[in-house]
Amino acid sequence: MKTALVTGSSRGIGKAIAIKRAEKGYYVLVNFHSNKNAADEALNHIQSNGGNGELLQMDVSNRNDIKNILGDWIKTNPDKAIEVLVNNAGIKDDSLMLWMKDEQWDSVLQTNLDSFFFITRIVIENMVFDRYGRIINIVSLSGLKGLPGQVNYSAAKAGIIGATKAMAQELGRSGITVNAVAPGFIQTSMTEDMDEKNLKKLIPVNRFGTPEEVAHAVAFLVSPEAGYITSQVLSVNGGLF
Ligand code: NAP
Repeated sequence: MKTALVTGSSRGIGKAIAIKRAEKGYYVLVNFHSNKNAADEALNHIQSNGGNGELLQMDVSNRNDIKNILGDWIKTNPDKAIEVLVNNAGIKDDSLMLWMKDEQWDSVLQTNLDSFFFITRIVIENMVFDRYGRIINIVSLSGLKGLPGQVNYSAAKAGIIGATKAMAQELGRSGITVNAVAPGFIQTSMTEDMDEKNLKKLIPVNRFGTPEEVAHAVAFLVSPEAGYITSQVLSVNGGLF
């Protein structure tokens, strides 16, 4: 059964991506950290629309959780090949660098960057064996241009962009593409405390984007027809740079 793992898919952008994968006939692993109600809602939505999947509660910032929970799931589900991996789970914890605490650096780097490494390393084993895979890393405009107050977040996202390009070269011969999608301002809980009315003046299309618009870009890159597109960063930002 072709399977998609979307990290952080209980809410926001990840949820929209998971729903779109299910619509395309994938068995979807809906990963979440602590918000069980939101994860149930996401899976219910998928199932009530004729899709299929299951919840995978796992703290992506914890490498042991990844090894034990995801590693075990893969071992016990040999009939479900993860052919699409979307590394989407992420957090921000902003502060000017001068006042940034060790914990703010550690938690943002562990949740955004370390998770990408430990999850992807496990998942590509079978992809290489099957000689097919699609990996999408959700990064950010912040990782492309750097944003003040986000030294930790910009570093994590820029790190993933570099890793995306290195991996694309390692895995191209195995039929695996690796790309990144870089959203600008998207309406989710991550941006709900932002002043959209003022910020949208900076954006050429004059609004924040929707999670579904990011999911649409992901859908394009994970389609079998996109097999000649790898090592790219596709911005979904309304023209804001
Ligand atoms: P969101 O609405 O805050 O949702 C975050 C998701 O990640 C939730 O499903 C959450 O699970 C999960 N998550 C957080 N920490 C986790 C952990 N340690 N282990 C497992 N899951 C965890 O965020 P979003 O706006 O959709 O952001 C999704 C991605 O897009 C992130 O990588 C973010 O950096 C990136 N991005 C967002 C924007 C934007 O404007 N929104 C812009 C650029 C990039 P729970 O429900 O269990 O908490």
